[in-house]
Amino acid sequence: MAEIGHGGKEIVERILPPGEAARAVEGLTPYPVRDQIANEVIDIAYGWFTPLEGFMGRADADSVIRKMELADGTVWSIPIVFDMSEAEIAEYGVKEGGRLLLTYQGNPLAILDVEEIWTYDMEEMCTAIFGTAEMKHPGVARTCGYKEKFIGGKVTLVNRPRINPVFEPYFIPPLEMRRRFREKGWAAIVVHQTRNVPHTGHEWLMKGAWAQAYGGLPIERPMVGVLVNAIIGQKRKGDYIDEAIILCQDELRKAGYFGDHNHMTSLTFWDMRYAGPKEAVFHACIRVNLGCTHHMYGRDHAGVGDYYDPYDAHRLLQSIPKEKLNITPVYSMNWLYCPHCGEITSEGLCNHKSEWQKFSGTLIRSIVMDGVKPPRLIFRPEVFDLVMECADRYGFGSPFVTDEYLAKRTPVFTIPPLG
Ligand SMILES: [Zn+2]
Repeated sequence: MAEIGHGGKEIVERILPPGEAARAVEGLTPYPVRDQIANEVIDIAYGWFTPLEGFMGRADADSVIRKMELADGTVWSIPIVFDMSEAEIAEYGVKEGGRLLLTYQGNPLAILDVEEIWTYDMEEMCTAIFGTAEMKHPGVARTCGYKEKFIGGKVTLVNRPRINPVFEPYFIPPLEMRRRFREKGWAAIVVHQTRNVPHTGHEWLMKGAWAQAYGGLPIERPMVGVLVNAIIGQKRKGDYIDEAIILCQDELRKAGYFGDHNHMTSLTFWDMRYAGPKEAVFHACIRVNLGCTHHMYGRDHAGVGDYYDPYDAHRLLQSIPKEKLNITPVYSMNWLYCPHCGEITSEGLCNHKSEWQKFSGTLIRSIVMDGVKPPRLIFRPEVFDLVMECADRYGFGSPFVTDEYLAKRTPVFTIPPLG
């Protein structure tokens, strides 16, 4: 059965079987790629980026920048590009019509068909995507750090990544994800984008979104699932470590706050651009490919600093017709702890405003740093214990990213030698 993804395009894995891969890479010039490109090669090859079959040529990128759609009219908000310097293009003999063997960690990863070598005005690209060209915006800094030329062309994976055992159960590519959704019988799936260890505010965001997505469905059996989709990519110091994020999110299910019938945890490889509204649209596109029907959006989705109004993302999503982006945004209000009610409540519900205790990042951080178990209405005890365990096992004593973690952590995936 054909699986139809974003833009009405069939999801097809672009992956060669081992024997064929070994023959295909013979004689090709190896070119080592950095982490971001390796992540995106995997996303393209497994169908997370459907309808893209490779890195963008100029026509697609230009259309994304000017109109937030690919040249064929499919909604797309962030250029997916492969950059190379002029010196590298000369050194590796890159020519239109040729092929490059992309390697990662010293081993073959994928073949790139060189269809087009192109350039773009980077200030124009940044202003359109981020609304600013200021280098202190981390997405602008990343984008302006690209080398001066881009290579457009199809990507074919020759070697599947070997996922580190901690993350392996959560690496669920689009075709497999859709199979699992069918197996569970979910009629609606609401996705929760995260880079956090969940406190009860997050738990209730998911519970609230679950109820919203339930809408008018019959209640004979559970038919709505929450998909936690953690973004795994380049880390910044002070972020939660990846192991704590993924394991603690799943702990909410394991400890029974959700169940197999309504909750699943997974990951997507992506280096955050912090593009606010444009990134919110991009997240919607990849979650359409995962088979989700609803997407949660809170305040300032994928934003940074004060570059975006907290509800810009909502407004941009609302301006896109459903036939162009087949996922329903679920807008969430903040959940907080009200000591008067003695429970978690929403800003839109109880009237004890002066007593509310909001889950600020600073509050949660200080709780985790103290290491003293907080009330279960703030942090589930199972989740809290697991954060502490992850700090010891994977974080060199800290649940947050440190220089030591960056230098010594086990990679999320490795590329083995071919064959
Ligand atoms: Zn209250």
